[in-house]
Amino acid sequence: MENSGRCGAFDVIVIGAGVMGSSTAYQTAKRGLTTLLLEQFDFLHHRGSSHGESRTIRATYPEDYYSEMVLESTRLWEQAEAEIGYKVYFKTRQLDVGPSDNKSLLAVVNSCRRNSIPVKVLTRDEVLDDFSGVFRLPEDWIGVVTEHGGVIKPTKAVSMFQTLGLRNGAVLKDNAEVMDISKDGETNEIVVFAGDGEKYRCRKCVITAGAWTGKLVKKVRGLDLPIQPLETGVYYWKINEGHEGKFTFESGFPTFASYGEPYIYGTPSFEFPRLVKVPVHSGRACEPEDRAWASPAAMVEAAREWIRGRFGDLVDADKPVMTQSCMYSMTPDEDFVIDFLGGEFGEDVVVCGGFSGHGFKMAPVVGRVAAEMVASGKAEGVDLTRFKVGRFEGNCKGNVKEFNEQVKSH
Ligand SMILES: Cc1cc2nc3c(=O)[nH]c(=O)nc-3n(C[C@H](O)[C@H](O)[C@H](O)COP(=O)(O)OP(=O)(O)OC[C@H]3O[C@@H](n4cnc5c(N)ncnc54)[C@H](O)[C@@H]3O)c2cc1C
Repeated sequence: MENSGRCGAFDVIVIGAGVMGSSTAYQTAKRGLTTLLLEQFDFLHHRGSSHGESRTIRATYPEDYYSEMVLESTRLWEQAEAEIGYKVYFKTRQLDVGPSDNKSLLAVVNSCRRNSIPVKVLTRDEVLDDFSGVFRLPEDWIGVVTEHGGVIKPTKAVSMFQTLGLRNGAVLKDNAEVMDISKDGETNEIVVFAGDGEKYRCRKCVITAGAWTGKLVKKVRGLDLPIQPLETGVYYWKINEGHEGKFTFESGFPTFASYGEPYIYGTPSFEFPRLVKVPVHSGRACEPEDRAWASPAAMVEAAREWIRGRFGDLVDADKPVMTQSCMYSMTPDEDFVIDFLGGEFGEDVVVCGGFSGHGFKMAPVVGRVAAEMVASGKAEGVDLTRFKVGRFEGNCKGNVKEFNEQVKSH
C-alpha cells in the first residue's frame, strides 16, 4: 500500500525515532515541511541508545568543534523546554579530573579558553574542598571545572521531541521497520519500503538509525560505513548511609568525567534515591540483535576500583545495585557522521549516525542541522568537514586526533 503526505509525497521521511530522529522530525515539521517519522520498534523502546534516566551535557571537549555545538545545543534544549512547558535539562557544574599531564584533559582546558568558556583548574586539595570532600584524587591529578554541566533526561527528552513534532504536524509511525530505500527515476522522489509491505514517498529522507545505521546504509547504497555497535552498561551504586546529601544537585555535586584508563563518568544522585550513577565509558562490540544484555566483568571491576579509590567509604563499591544495557555506535575516530548519502541519492538523503557514546547532548543541534540540510541543501553554523562519510575512503581511521580515543572496546 502506498502512503504520502498532504500533497503527494511527504517533504521529509525520518528513519529511526531515537533522540536524533525525533529531534530532526521536530525541526523539519517546525519549518512547515510535511514530515513522517518511522520507527522499527515501539516508540520509547529500550533497545537502542536513547532510553534511560540521565545523560550528561558538558562543554568540556578536547575538540573545539564539539564545544561550539554544545553551546548551541544548550540554547536549543532550553528553547524546546520553553515550547513544551516542562524540564528535561537540569544544570550543574561539570568536573573533569585526571592526571595533570593527560593530553585530552589539557586539550579540554585549552579548548575552553579558546571558546571563552570560563574554566577553573583546581589542585587535588581544592577539588576535595570544593565538592564536599567527595572526590579523593591521587597526588598528581587535577580538576577542571566549568559551569556548563548538567543532566538531560533521555526518555523524557525523546518523548518531548516527538510531542513537539506532532504539535507541528509531523506524522509518527512505530513498528515500521524500513527495509530499503530507492530513488524513483521518473518523479525523482525517494521511495521508502517498510517491513509490513507499506511504501512511502518523500522528496528528502534522513537516516537516524543509531546502531543499525551501518546495516541500512550498506543495504541502500552498498557503502561500508564503519559504525560499530558497542554494548555498554549503566551502573548505579548505593551511597553509604549518612553521605547521601553529598551526592545531590543541591549540595553542588557535579556531572563528572575521569580521564585516563578507565574513562569513568557520572551524574548526581537524582533519578533513584540514595543511588549514584558511575559507569565506564567503554563496551563490547555487538550486533544490535545479538546482545549479551550484561557487561564484561572487567568493566564492572574497573568501575568498582575507581569508586573505591575516589569515593572511599562514601559509596558501597561491592557491586552495582542496578544496571541497564545500552548501545554506542562507534566510528573509528569517535566523530559523528552527518552528511549527504551521495551515490544515486545525491543530496536527497542525509545520514546522521556514529554518535560514538557522546551524542545525546547534541541532539537539538543535530536535528537543526539535518533539517537545514534537507530544506536548503546546506547547514549554517556548524562545520561539517569532520563529519563527512567520505573521510573513511582509503583511510579506515578517519580524522587524525592528537589524543587517545576515549571509549575502550572489551
Ligand atoms: C549508556 C549510555 C550513556 C550515554 N551517555 C551519554 C552522555 O552522558 N552524554 C551524551 O551526550 N551522550 C551519551 N550517550 C550517547 C547518546 O545516548 C547517543 O549518542 C544517542 O542516544 C544516539 O541516538 P540515535 O538517535 O542516533 O540512536 P538510537 O537512540 O538508537 O535511535 C535509532 C533508532 O532508529 C531505529 N531504527 C533503526 N533501524 C531502523 C529501520 N530500519 N527502520 C526504522 N527504524 C529503525 C531504532 O530502533 C532506534 O529507535 C550515551 C549512550 C549510552 C548507551
